[in-house]
Amino acid sequence: MITGKNYIGNNLSSEGNITFKTFNPKTNTQNDFLFTEASDDEINQAVQLATEAFIQYKNTSGIKKSNFLNAIADEILNLDNDLLQIYKMESGLTIERAIGERERTIWQLRMFANLVKEGSWVDAVIDTSQPERKPISKPDIRKMLIPLGPIVVFGASNFPLAYSTAGGDTVSALASGCPVIVKSHPMHAGTGEMVASAIIKAAKKTEMPNGIFSNLNSSGIEVGVNLVKHPNIKAVGFTGSVIGGRALFDLANQRKEPIPVFAEMGSINPVILLPKVIRKSKNKIAKIYSESITLGSGQFCTNPGLILGIKSDDLTNFIQILANEIVKIEPSCMLHPNIIGNYEKNKAKIKSQKGVSVKAEYVNDVSKNFGQQVIMTVEGETFFKNTTLHQEVFGPFSLIVQCKNKEQLHEIVKNLEGQLTGSVWADNDEEIKYKSIIDTLQNRVGRIIFNGVSTGVEVCPSMQHGGPYPASTDSRFTAVGIHSIKRWVRPVSFQNWPQKLLPIELRNENILKINRLINNELTLNSI
Ligand code: NAP
Repeated sequence: MITGKNYIGNNLSSEGNITFKTFNPKTNTQNDFLFTEASDDEINQAVQLATEAFIQYKNTSGIKKSNFLNAIADEILNLDNDLLQIYKMESGLTIERAIGERERTIWQLRMFANLVKEGSWVDAVIDTSQPERKPISKPDIRKMLIPLGPIVVFGASNFPLAYSTAGGDTVSALASGCPVIVKSHPMHAGTGEMVASAIIKAAKKTEMPNGIFSNLNSSGIEVGVNLVKHPNIKAVGFTGSVIGGRALFDLANQRKEPIPVFAEMGSINPVILLPKVIRKSKNKIAKIYSESITLGSGQFCTNPGLILGIKSDDLTNFIQILANEIVKIEPSCMLHPNIIGNYEKNKAKIKSQKGVSVKAEYVNDVSKNFGQQVIMTVEGETFFKNTTLHQEVFGPFSLIVQCKNKEQLHEIVKNLEGQLTGSVWADNDEEIKYKSIIDTLQNRVGRIIFNGVSTGVEVCPSMQHGGPYPASTDSRFTAVGIHSIKRWVRPVSFQNWPQKLLPIELRNENILKINRLINNELTLNSI
């Protein structure tokens, strides 16, 4: 049942006087539920509870945390069709997509449950003492990762489950030992409340401290701003626009105690098509990109928004085939009138730039809030000089840049902003001939793909989802996969510390049987 209230720790609360509703983009009508934005007092209560919960939760064992995360997964599954229906009502996405995203959310929860149960993720390093060392003795030093404290997570608009209330940021933070306060995304507040209810049920069942999780509603930026400014908050996770992510990053850096903001933001995910592969496989590649550009109405951070090639008859033919293919695809509903509004505005902005021409556009009548795909082209020199053309157009859009030669292609790649992904299509050893361009691309991206598409982010340990700014605010970290836990922890060294007071992971006896680096040797042994 949706109450429209905030979860302040385990309690439902609606003290504020600002209310709002979510929107069904498919039917173009408001949903019935009325949500109450969290008041300043409720924000403070949530942070206070999280601060108190942290004292106990930071020392909770991996097994208990694992039980908690698995219980969240079970409770989300128990929400069954009610969750899928509200997801559909608030996003315009299909039930199939809801099921797929729920599967990913469950998989992420179980993956982190296994990680913390096993325990080696804390990166325990032990250097035993050498009292006899000359000229000075060496102390006993032991280091491991410990959680930062209460974390604020901003739910993403484009993944109501996998990047929101119990999504990757929340789950990795809870796994690390940090309490989480979610600033629910206003477009899917009902989905958020249902998932929050599952988290609270799981927390109670597994006897987690009250305040380990809160879910706050908001219809504007104030709740998020107040949370980020709160002195007890120690880090922030965000997925969304560059404007929003940058504003929060700046805010966090202006605090008396600056804190890290891990924001995953805009990316146009450049694709380089080399000449021989275009000659040989233009039909196949055009078909693949017509599908990738329109997948989920282009509302993915890895959407291929920029295609780069060197002018030739083959490239011209490829563009024509892509244009023919892309208009065959039926448009689908976008997430919200604001999102489609931004899409139309940004599309029009690119279209109005000098030298840009529309190569294909879906022009048939579509239902309200459906995103009509478009492909535009531009010469290399024009693209190079006009940075407006380098901005993300969030939706089923791609700009094809026709470079006059290899050198111009290289200059363009060199001057691209940071990106989540970059793709290279090559044939017959072209990757060797164009190695310097590919090396340059590698410097601009977090993930580089060979003869494949960027859409579809595998959740696995080797995945890097983050790249140089503005793709993310800190390219050293990933927002997907087990290593995303590293965003919420810091290393601490214990020098000459008594055995019985050391964390269990650092004691002589390896009780947890975790991998540890002892005197430079990775081992499961005890000392
Ligand atoms: P958004 O506008 O960046 O908002 C994301 C969240 O951050 C919302 O909860 C929003 O709160 C909050 N927020 C935004 N600006 C803020 C500020 N200055 N201070 C504090 N909080 C702030 O993103 P969105 O609503 O998801 O979608 C808008 C656009 O973002 C899309 O059209 C698209 O261009 C881009 N986007 C990109 C990606 C990507 O992965 N590349 C993903 C999603 C969206 P309120 O809504 O309450 O204001």
